[in-house]
Amino acid sequence: MSAEATKSIDGIRFSVWSPNEIRKYSVAEITTPETYDEDGMAVQGGLMDGRLGTLEPGQKCLSCGNTSARCPGHFGHIELATLWKDTVRTYFHKTNNFYRKI
Ligand SMILES: [Zn+2]
Repeated sequence: MSAEATKSIDGIRFSVWSPNEIRKYSVAEITTPETYDEDGMAVQGGLMDGRLGTLEPGQKCLSCGNTSARCPGHFGHIELATLWKDTVRTYFHKTNNFYRKI
């Protein structure tokens, strides 16, 4: 990489999206761990749902219509059961408090 190709940045800001923001930016709810059906097609609502983007050359993304070379990939989401929501919320709360003390 040449020196002309590098750029400096002032900083990076991270944040956690709320559940509603996650759903808003998600293109698909993932409801099954299945990937492909018996015909080799991506299962809708599965981990390889075509709305998330495509990795296959020649196929088009179901969200943006681009091929794998130009599709940036799209967010999906999984609705967690209440037990997991409480666990994740507790984890983030404890992690957030830990980093505030540093
Ligand atoms: Zn796409």
